Amino acid sequence: MNERQEQLIRNVDKNKQLILDAEQYIWKHPQTGYTEWDAHNYLVEKYEALGYKLVLAGKIPGFGDIPGFYTDVDTGRPGPTLAIFGELDALDIANHPESVNGMTHCCGHHAQSAVLLGLAAAFKEPGALDGLCGKIRLIAVPAEEMIQLTFREELRKKGVINYMGGKVEFMYRGILDDVDLAIMVHGTSAGEGEPYDFICGFGNNGCMPKTIRFKGKSAHAGAAPHMGINAQYAAMLGLQAVNDLRETFQEKDTIRFHPIMLGVNCAVNIIPDEFRIESYVRGKTNEAIKRENIKVNRALTGAALAMGAGVELVDRPGYSPETHDPDFMKLVQKCCEDLVGADRVHFDYNQWSTGSSDFGDITCVMPGIQFNAAGITGTLHGIDFHVADTDRLLMNSAKAQLFVTDALLGNDAAAAKEIIANYKPQYASIKEYFAAIDDFILDKDAVVYDEDGNATVDFKNA
Ligand SMILES: [Zn+2]
Ligand SMILES: [Zn+2]
Repeated sequence: MNERQEQLIRNVDKNKQLILDAEQYIWKHPQTGYTEWDAHNYLVEKYEALGYKLVLAGKIPGFGDIPGFYTDVDTGRPGPTLAIFGELDALDIANHPESVNGMTHCCGHHAQSAVLLGLAAAFKEPGALDGLCGKIRLIAVPAEEMIQLTFREELRKKGVINYMGGKVEFMYRGILDDVDLAIMVHGTSAGEGEPYDFICGFGNNGCMPKTIRFKGKSAHAGAAPHMGINAQYAAMLGLQAVNDLRETFQEKDTIRFHPIMLGVNCAVNIIPDEFRIESYVRGKTNEAIKRENIKVNRALTGAALAMGAGVELVDRPGYSPETHDPDFMKLVQKCCEDLVGADRVHFDYNQWSTGSSDFGDITCVMPGIQFNAAGITGTLHGIDFHVADTDRLLMNSAKAQLFVTDALLGNDAAAAKEIIANYKPQYASIKEYFAAIDDFILDKDAVVYDEDGNATVDFKNA
């Protein structure tokens, strides 16, 4: 560790209480995507107290009101702009012992927001920007978890949002237009006895959210089931058909389909006339997701037809696959090793995760790394999720991010410029990226019957 890095560590340590307080506040005020106003309001006050001018995402002209904001730390010297993200949203998980209104931060996003605030404070310390050029854009972003699809579709229809994921929505609002590269740190449970403080893989799956509504006809379940059409049975048959297709999903595409059945809206003695399902199709490339999703939609349509039912298919752009630039990974790995030692850092340049994140959408258009800081025990998205070690999850994370910022933007940003110059983004521009993901949009009443009971099926975009 060099003298400069020791200074950066002190800049974080001086702000330890600010970080710990924010972690506690946001943990105790969990809210799900696009409703994270408690965290938003708390953070806005803290950033403004530090002297930052914020651009509120919900106040950008022409767009709906949502939580989240960004601010720029300007070094005063020309150079690239590095984005650093902190996510705001919690999850519905009513059985977590510390849930509030049925929600907790069981993915640890509250810690990210607390750390981002700590970075904002550290950048205000004397000498913090010495030797750096360019800008650092600190972005508090809502709605990483792709949940509550029906609620988000309502927001979309009202014009409050245009896309389900917060980072995608921020891109749509132009917040990433003048950004050149990006980092973020997610919390992780390194596993019992595992020595690692920092972990990073090569990338992860993209995902596409779906809402599926089977439509039947209600009738007396005891006296006259022959008068009804059972939407629940059609849904069960549809899921059975998709399950039978699983062996046709090829390993190379790492496809995942994991529906939840949202159930019926009627009494037990009524033939259900409606049955709703939410799911994703995940995969290694957007092409694979599109290709396999057609089979899924065909199976759901066939099940509806078999029962004489209807089915509405609603597909939306989700998150694109995330890939990490290996040269960028090497730089981040070195910074983590400088901080905690090589034996506590595990970067796997081949590892592919089948989870998804809207950070993947960022890596479609610019070099980006999402790496993980340990300090959590229990299961991500589990009722045993717990922050066990704030030094590892919060303080280490902040310090590592300062090291990375320095490594990128110091020395006339030579390292950042090289990474940017060598990066081959999947899409040449944000505009091109949106054109590609908009291709996912599908709204189909997939089975239409005529007067004679003949059916026409239509489950594909033209
Ligand atoms: Zn999560
Ligand atoms: Zn998460």
